[in-house]
Amino acid sequence: TGAMRRPLVLANWKMNMLPAQVQPYLDQVIPEVEKDTAADVAIAAQDLYLAEMVRQSSQSRLMIAAENAHWTDDGAYTGETSPKALAQVGVHYVLIGHFERRKLFNETDERVNWKTKAALRNGLKPIVDLDEDLTAYEGDDASQVVLKQLAEALDGLTETDLKDVTIAYEPTWAIGSGEAASAAQAEKSAALIRTSLANLYSRELADRTRILYGGSVTTENAADFLSQKDIDGILVGKAALDPEKFLELIDIAQ
Ligand code: PGA
Repeated sequence: TGAMRRPLVLANWKMNMLPAQVQPYLDQVIPEVEKDTAADVAIAAQDLYLAEMVRQSSQSRLMIAAENAHWTDDGAYTGETSPKALAQVGVHYVLIGHFERRKLFNETDERVNWKTKAALRNGLKPIVDLDEDLTAYEGDDASQVVLKQLAEALDGLTETDLKDVTIAYEPTWAIGSGEAASAAQAEKSAALIRTSLANLYSRELADRTRILYGGSVTTENAADFLSQKDIDGILVGKAALDPEKFLELIDIAQ
């Protein structure tokens, strides 16, 4: 983690957790989050839990994230969630373009861009996911896919807009597979993303922007990722479903 960037530990519950599990999880996590203050902490959850989670955490440092939001503020979009409504409920972050959204729900680079803009317009902080796929990873231009996703996601955004944007880098083969990238591989990609931000905007902006690693992060490998110069946090799926493990991860980020 760079000196000027605060680490972020982000749990992504995905479509997990039943109503009866939410309260005990928060009861366990919230008091501990107050003790460890060196890292930001957030949980991304299904929409239906968000308002209650915001209420539960309102007096704490825990921030709540949506896993997706639409690119318009309101209208005839049955089944979608408004970024404006999420912001008014008190949701802090929104994941945009997670690999599962891109792969299973047709999330194109263009939509990722629209959604990033809609989030910012409404005061939500977007966490823009870039997904590097296996073939690209092993090929010569390992990073081209990711850098193209980055440029397209941020198309039309100004340096001022970027102050509220976090980037998450995830090799697709590492997501949910139990096989994380090595810290060195992840650092290499994070550094490339940072260089690309410097080229697209400025060195200053690049140095300020938080870049997360995601993909099979565990309590065993988290410290390796977090000690890399260009990795400013972790996006954790499976391991964070267990509140004990999530607390351990928060502790490691201190
Ligand atoms: P995982 O999920 O930690 O289960 O690999 C990561 C993610 O949500 O991107």
